[in-house]
Amino acid sequence: MKNKQEAKQHYENNKLEKRLCRLAGEAIHNFNMIEDSDKIMVCMSGGKDSYAMLDILLKLKARAPINFSIIAVNLDQKQPDFPEHILPNYFKSLGIDYHIEEQDTYSIVKRIVPEGKTTCGLCSRLRRGILYRVADELGANKIALGHHRDDILETVLLNLFYGGRLKGMPPKLLSDDGKHIIIRPLAYVQEKDLEEYAKVKQFPIIPCNLCGSQPNLQRGEMKKLIQSWSKHTGRVENFFAALSKVVPSHLMDANLFDFKTLSNMQNVEGDIAFDDEPCAAPNSGLNNNINLVKFR
Ligand code: SF4
Repeated sequence: MKNKQEAKQHYENNKLEKRLCRLAGEAIHNFNMIEDSDKIMVCMSGGKDSYAMLDILLKLKARAPINFSIIAVNLDQKQPDFPEHILPNYFKSLGIDYHIEEQDTYSIVKRIVPEGKTTCGLCSRLRRGILYRVADELGANKIALGHHRDDILETVLLNLFYGGRLKGMPPKLLSDDGKHIIIRPLAYVQEKDLEEYAKVKQFPIIPCNLCGSQPNLQRGEMKKLIQSWSKHTGRVENFFAALSKVVPSHLMDANLFDFKTLSNMQNVEGDIAFDDEPCAAPNSGLNNNINLVKFR
């Protein structure tokens, strides 16, 4: 018989799992990420995000009214001390299809990038090319990546402050080679929930610093900024919600809005030029009234 403490913990864990499934289901639905007969290559790094993504996709698949298949793929980049048995053992324990691609990108990166310079740019490009080829070979039409809400917000800020662009990380996009659709089913999920879920599920996490690369300082800065905002109710949520409520007529990109031949028909927000800017009440940042039958 469970004591009160255990029962409470069980209840909280259950709530967390339901929340993650609901948010992933909403993202999948809103962006039409998964369709009947899709074969999804789920990219597994061995970090908390990829484990959670696989776990949640398998749960959603079990109850989805459409048929799609999942294959977990890990790219073993031959980093020193990479524990190559962990992921295959995990996949076997789940009884799912998987593929381990062994490619020594670590040596290539070390050889080409001068000592002390960041290696992530080249490493990511090599990894991307390999994953597209593997997706082709496996017959997968979709590639799922484990980026979450906070990755997206950090990317928006990085592009804003260091790139001078309003640009984020899309939940769904066409791959560079035009052959695959990349999906990010955790786009609505907060990182802290994934950290908690990894503890609850006791995923066998593989450390992410095996390559010896320095952490990205600018991204770290953006993370801290967002964390500091989370003390203010609704601020981060509204920031995230704003990514889905863009008003081109009230920005300054002439490629998105035809300022030259302005007409009343284009004035979608009406004439509020001299009003105070309306300020929406804090909200969850998510579309609450959509039909989510498919993935609930
Ligand atoms: S942290 Fe290491 S493995 Fe990851 S992208 Fe950078 S160089 Fe590659």
